[in-house]
Amino acid sequence: MSLTTREVQALDSAHYMHPFTDHQSLAGKGARVITRGKGVYVWDSEDNEIFDGMSGLWCVNVGYGRQELVEAAARQMEVLPYYNSFFQTTNLPAAQLAERIVGLAGARFSHVFFSSSGSESNDTNVRLVRHYWATLGQPERNVIISRKNAYHGSTVCGAALGGMSGMHAQGGPMVPGIEHIQQPYHFELAPDMDRDAFGIEAAGWLEQKILAVGPEKVAAFIGEPVQGAGGVIIPPKTYWPEIQRICDKYGILLICDEVICGFGRLGAWFSAEMMGAKPDLITFAKGVTSGYIPLGGVVVGKRVADVVIGQGGEFNHGYTYSGHPVACAVALANLDIIEREGLVDRVREETGPYLAEQFAALSEHPLVAGAETFGMVGGLVLMKDKASRTPFDSSLEVGMICRDHCFANGLVMRAVGDRMIIAPPLVCTKSDIDELIKRVRICLDATLKDIQ
Ligand code: PLP
Repeated sequence: MSLTTREVQALDSAHYMHPFTDHQSLAGKGARVITRGKGVYVWDSEDNEIFDGMSGLWCVNVGYGRQELVEAAARQMEVLPYYNSFFQTTNLPAAQLAERIVGLAGARFSHVFFSSSGSESNDTNVRLVRHYWATLGQPERNVIISRKNAYHGSTVCGAALGGMSGMHAQGGPMVPGIEHIQQPYHFELAPDMDRDAFGIEAAGWLEQKILAVGPEKVAAFIGEPVQGAGGVIIPPKTYWPEIQRICDKYGILLICDEVICGFGRLGAWFSAEMMGAKPDLITFAKGVTSGYIPLGGVVVGKRVADVVIGQGGEFNHGYTYSGHPVACAVALANLDIIEREGLVDRVREETGPYLAEQFAALSEHPLVAGAETFGMVGGLVLMKDKASRTPFDSSLEVGMICRDHCFANGLVMRAVGDRMIIAPPLVCTKSDIDELIKRVRICLDATLKDIQ
């Protein structure tokens, strides 16, 4: 890098308005400047090595420094750097990628709509399900039910679909026709209740909401199979089959947002079916290109495609970068890597179970009241007194203290309140997992020392 860390930080703080950042709290210290990455590690401008326990933002599934992806992008840029797919036009990588993703999603799906992000894809979903019902002659069926503490993106529609109170508090009126039910967070809401019984009860909140809104007005339910940004909330195994049963009973569409969960992170190409759901639409982004280039989309089930494509006329919706040839070429090369290295099976059968075991052992730490994983995501809860389940005073921001210790000790872990979460790259080996856990322990010890 030709500029010093201080010089980059000065440029940054003068001109770069960051997403999800309190700039006042940055004043005086400057942003951390990340300069390069290899495998499961990134380095900052002071050459500190950092284990990326979050895969960037849950996306660098194949790890950093994969030359194949660089070459796929360069090759495609030379041939055709851009063309759109509006107005009866296409390109080879987009058509090939659509076919490949449909193949991974299974026989109930037939098409893919491309965007550049998870947020845009969920905006597409809202328009798509409303257009679906309008095409069927039921335009009043336009309410979408989502969950509190869900994350579905940062566009106006993504924020409205999501259930993040901080996002709802800013930016004025939300998109109408979106309702929320409580999330299936067993640890917080009903720790003394049998987990499976809680799963059924939590799914029942969907039915209550459908009845309150009026079944004839409900278009769809949307949910992340495992809530990511909300703190890695893993639902009881009874939850999704019961959600599916309720959707079927009232004929409402099911949208599974697999922006985090898809492309191997939970040990399946797409995780909803593994969890007992049969979505009509699947949102994807992130892992489809391992974050090397922006790409997102919606896998469209035959139920929706047959109506919207078969009878709906022109869908007046699309993005300049829908089906971007370079992004699609990188995605194809990324899927080649995931397949060739058997990463999906490895997560399900080998590294996922190993991470689960090592992570669960962290519960012995005096600060940790619970620790669980699913594939390559995990969350642990920090508590003041775990025997009596007494949380810390939120003003102490213990999660943030822990996160800062992580940064200082060469580890990226994210804090959601006092939940510490991880989503390491899928290429993690068992010895990488050992290193990750070793660093987590160091950070937990440092946090404990700090607050005593
Ligand atoms: N949906 C889920 C489940 C996500 O986790 C995210 C991002 O973290 C999004 C949607 C939004 O994706 P993007 O940031 O690409 O717009």
